[in-house]
Amino acid sequence: MTFSLSIGGAPVTTSETFDVINPANGEVAAQVSLGTVKELDAAVAAAKAAFPAWAATPDAERADALNKIADLIEANAEELSALITKEQGKPQAGPGANFEIQGAVGWTRVTAGLSLAPEVIIDNDEERVEIHREPVGVVASITPWNWPLMIAIWHIMPAIRIGCPVVIKPSPYTPLSTLRLVELVNEAGILPAGVLNAVTGDGEVGDRISTHPDIAKITFTGSIPTGRRIMERAGASLKKLTLELGGNDAGIILPGTDISKLVEPLFWGTFINAGQTCSCLKRLYVHEDDVETVGKALAEFAANIPVGNGMDEGVLIGPMTNEMQYNKVVGMVEEAKAKGATVLAGGEASDAPGYIYPITILSGCTDEMSVVYDEQFGNVVPIIAYKTLDEAIEAANGLEVGLGASVWGDDPEEAAEVAKRVVAGTRWVNRHAVLNPMVPMGGVKQSGIGVEFSEEGLREYTTVQVLSIAK
Ligand code: NAD
Repeated sequence: MTFSLSIGGAPVTTSETFDVINPANGEVAAQVSLGTVKELDAAVAAAKAAFPAWAATPDAERADALNKIADLIEANAEELSALITKEQGKPQAGPGANFEIQGAVGWTRVTAGLSLAPEVIIDNDEERVEIHREPVGVVASITPWNWPLMIAIWHIMPAIRIGCPVVIKPSPYTPLSTLRLVELVNEAGILPAGVLNAVTGDGEVGDRISTHPDIAKITFTGSIPTGRRIMERAGASLKKLTLELGGNDAGIILPGTDISKLVEPLFWGTFINAGQTCSCLKRLYVHEDDVETVGKALAEFAANIPVGNGMDEGVLIGPMTNEMQYNKVVGMVEEAKAKGATVLAGGEASDAPGYIYPITILSGCTDEMSVVYDEQFGNVVPIIAYKTLDEAIEAANGLEVGLGASVWGDDPEEAAEVAKRVVAGTRWVNRHAVLNPMVPMGGVKQSGIGVEFSEEGLREYTTVQVLSIAK
C-alpha cells in the first residue's frame, strides 16, 4: 500500500515514491507518494479557495468539527498508534504511541473549547473601538519526526479552529500517521474540501512553502538551521511565523536534594521518547557532593526500563528514529568517553538491527563535550558537577538556546526562586517536559519565535483588525 497526499479533500498519488524505514529493524515500513512543487501549489490553491467560506463558518461549527476529529482519532487509535511506532519507534506502552494518541485527542478537544471573542477597548459618547482577531489566511505546517501526530495536531487544530485552511508537510522520516489522519478526516467529510491538505516533498517543496505568495503563515517545528532558512526566505512575502526550534534544556539539582523522591519524574523528563523530545532535559547540573548519589539513582532506575522494538510488549523506550540521529548519539557518547566522561549506564552501541541505543548516563562531563554544548536529542544525558549554584545557573544560561529548563529541590518554592534566574520559555520545578494544552509553550533566544497552545497560541493564527466607530 502506498500512502497518498490529500489535496482538496481527495487522495492524490504521484509517480515517484519514497520509503519510510522502521527504526526498530531497519526494514521498509511503507511507501509514500513523493510530492513536488506541483502538488504543493495545487494544495495551496485548494486551501486558498476554501478560506473565505471556512473563515465565515460560525465559530460553534468549527469547534464542533474539532470535536468530531477528536472522536475520529479515538475511533482509529489502534491503527494510528501502530503507524507511529512503525515510523518513529516509540513504544506502544508507557509514554509512547498510545500516549501520543491520547495527547492528540486531548489537545484537539481543548482547542475546540478555545475562542477569541472581539474585545471592546473604548466605549464612550464619541466612539466605540473594538479589536477583532481575524484568521490570517492559508497556513502551512511543517513538522519534525519526533512526535509526528501530536505536533501535527498542535499545528492543525488552532489554525482550523480559528478559520485558517492548512497545508501540512510532515517529515519524510515520519509521514504515515499524519497522511492517514488527514485522509481519515477528509474521508469522513468533517471539513469542507480544501480546509485540510497534506503534501510530502523534499527541500525544494520546503523552500516553495517559504516563498509561496498565497501562504500567509508558516508554523514550523524543527531544527534551528531549517527555522532560520524558512525565516530568511519567508521575508520576501512577510509571512507570519511561529518557529518552535531546538533546545538544550538544563536541569539543576539543588545541593543536598533527596533524589529518591524525584528520580522518576527526573528520568522521564530526560528520557521520554528516548530523549527525542524538544523539551527533554538534556544537561543535568548536580552539586559535586551529590553526583555519585544522583548518578546511581538514575542508573538504577534506568536498569528497570526495557529498551527495544516498540511493538514488543513491555518495551518502554524505543530506538533512535533514524540513522542520522543514531550516528549523532553514538558519536557524541564516544567523544565524551574519549574526553574522560564516566559511563554510569549504557554507553555501548549494540549489533542489533535498527537504531536501538541503550539508555546512557554519563558523569564527569564538561562544557568541552558536544553532548553538553550541542543538542543530543537522544538516549543519553550528561551529568555536569558544579561547586556553587551561581556557577550552575551561569552554565545553564550559557548557551544560545532557551526552550525549557528545570530546577529540582526538596523545597519547591526555594527551587522556584532559582528557576526564575534561568532564561527559558518554560522553567519547571521538580518536573520537566510536562506540557498542557492550556499553557503556552515556546522558546526564547534561538529556540524560537511565538508560542503554541492556549489562547496565546490561537492568537498566532490571527491578525488584529480594529473596528473604530464614531458615534
Ligand atoms: P529538521 O529541521 O531537519 O526538519 C523539520 C521539518 O522541516 C521536516 O519536515 C523537514 O522535511 C522540513 N524541511 C527540511 N528542509 C526544509 C526547507 N528548506 N524548508 C522548509 N522545510 C524544510 O528537524 P528534525 O530533525 O525533523 O527535528 C528535530 C529538531 O526539531 C530538533 O532540533 C528539536 O529540538 C526540534 N524540535 C523542536 C520542538 C519545539 O517545540 N521547539 C519540537 C520538536 C522538535
